[in-house]
Amino acid sequence: MNFNTRLLHGKGVKNYADGATLPPIAQVSAFRYQAAEELDKVFHHKAMGYAYSRVSNPSVAAFEQRINELEKGNAAVACSSGMAAIALALLNILSCGDEIIASSGLYGGSIDLLEDLSKFGIRTKYARHLTPEEAEPLISPKTRLIFGEVLSNPSLEVLDVRKIADFAHGHGLPLFVDATTVTPYLFNPVEFGADVVIHSTTKYINGSGDAVGGIIVDGGHFPWDFDRFEGLSGYRRYGKLAYTIRLRTDIWENMGGCMAPMTAFLNVIGLETLGLRMGRICSNAKALASALAEIPGLEVNYPLLPGNPSKELAESQFGGRGGGILTFRAGSKERAFRIINALHYAVRATSIGDTRTLVIHPESTIYIRSTKDQREAAGVYEDTVRVSVGIEDPEDLIQDFTETIRHYR
Ligand SMILES: *Cc1c(COP(=O)(O)O)cnc(C)c1O
Repeated sequence: MNFNTRLLHGKGVKNYADGATLPPIAQVSAFRYQAAEELDKVFHHKAMGYAYSRVSNPSVAAFEQRINELEKGNAAVACSSGMAAIALALLNILSCGDEIIASSGLYGGSIDLLEDLSKFGIRTKYARHLTPEEAEPLISPKTRLIFGEVLSNPSLEVLDVRKIADFAHGHGLPLFVDATTVTPYLFNPVEFGADVVIHSTTKYINGSGDAVGGIIVDGGHFPWDFDRFEGLSGYRRYGKLAYTIRLRTDIWENMGGCMAPMTAFLNVIGLETLGLRMGRICSNAKALASALAEIPGLEVNYPLLPGNPSKELAESQFGGRGGGILTFRAGSKERAFRIINALHYAVRATSIGDTRTLVIHPESTIYIRSTKDQREAAGVYEDTVRVSVGIEDPEDLIQDFTETIRHYR
């Protein structure tokens, strides 16, 4: 089965009640039973069943099964947002005194989160580029995981997942990746050795910008050392499922970061057109980036452009596709603002992965909590403009951007 067929007919698509073609929205907090004995069994995991929607819900389960199949994982756990997914995925195996090795090109919200975690004694050491060479000197006996973005937002650096996964495994460490910008359409990190894959479903998976959500996929291949990952030691009997079982019955359940049933439903609808949208978005982004790169003196960052340091990796890992984000440097903050304000079709809004093209000035918005060094490591300068390309007709986008940029230069 190819990708688009799998979105509609894959194993993760079940026979829903009454023959419904989509999972019904179980918009309830609790599920009733005839007898106390039945609830007793459900709570003791001795019978299958739903009890309470913070813990499990059929609409959410339907979405988790579809993502898990697409990501070739062992299990998936849906969360209230991408940030909740990242926080809970990390906290599931970390405790005070532990260390993370991460790329300094991470999404701004993730950098802020790692800063928050430092107040709980969880320290992050950053590599400018997440390569074995740069990560090696950061390893210590306290290191517990390596965390990077497959295609970083907005620096657009491509992670060599196989290489960094082999390196991590050589040190007995799991590799966690944020795959929001690539989606299963471009790339399956688990097949390249990643152990835990995280998405902000708010973006391309939902696809229409109508619900905030996130998901954690457990690849199921990492051989957890229960002496080193003490938090998982109580889950030893679950073997390779220890990570997911602890997440479900411990930190995720207790922090209450669950996905809402309505969000899961909207995400299932979005997911069915993921292939169509991503195909269009990637070809639009490539066409727009190539057109902008022809404007004399305009510095454009898109992985597939000639001379881009990530070109080769993008081509080999993502099957020649470069994703839906591009950035350019306008020359000054003032010009960046003028260009942003004058665009006709690009909507001035944060977020990525919408049907509409979205445009933002990252330095004055999503990076205000970062230092100048942190911003520059993430490819954010005062004149940087980020474009999340939508599904509009490419001729219109190219005309809008090229005319506006030429006018204000
Ligand atoms: C948006 C985003 C997040 C955060 O997701 P939310 O759903 O906004 O919480 C994390 N990582 C990346 C790469 C993102 O683009």
